[in-house]
Order: sequence, then structure tokens, then C-alpha cells
Amino acid sequence: MKVNVDQSRCCGAGQCALIAPEVFDQGDEDGIVTLLEPNPAADLHPAVREAAAVCPASAITIDDDTDDIDTDTDTDDTTDDGH
Ligand code: SF4
Repeated sequence: MKVNVDQSRCCGAGQCALIAPEVFDQGDEDGIVTLLEPNPAADLHPAVREAAAVCPASAITIDDDTDDIDTDTDTDDTTDDGH
């Protein structure tokens, strides 16, 4: 798994840092996401997928370029960027 964040899209909602604090952090002043771990361990994958699913700005993207077997729980495509 390879994680990417688009800081230009991030609105600082902080969902990602709450769900997967090992992978995502937020800037102290602007709340914009920072990526702590672009290649998270397998045990963090479910949290990363959940963070990507709930991110209101769809700023988190995941590349599954490994043999990672997932349960496909991130099919909830939340593209609401209404804030
Ligand atoms: S959940 Fe999305 S919008 Fe909120 S801080 Fe994380 S990347 Fe930014």
C-alpha cells in the first residue's frame, strides 16, 4: 500500500488524524494534513482505508500495488466537498 495526500484539497477536517494517527498528522496552525507514513504496515491498512473513505475532501488516495488483501470496506465514495 502506498498512501498519497493532496494538501491542496485538504480542508483540515482532521478525520484522518483521528482515525489513523500513526499515518496522518495535521499542521499545528492550519490543520492541513501531513503524511507521516506513506508506506504503512499491514495492520494499519484498515484505518488508512477508513480515513480515505471518510475524508470530506477526498484528499487521501491509496495505491494498492502490493499483494495486500483487503476486505474492500472503502467503497463508500464520499465526494462531498461542501466545506
Ligand atoms: S480527513 Fe481529509 S480533509 Fe480532513 S485533515 Fe485529513 S486529508 Fe485533510
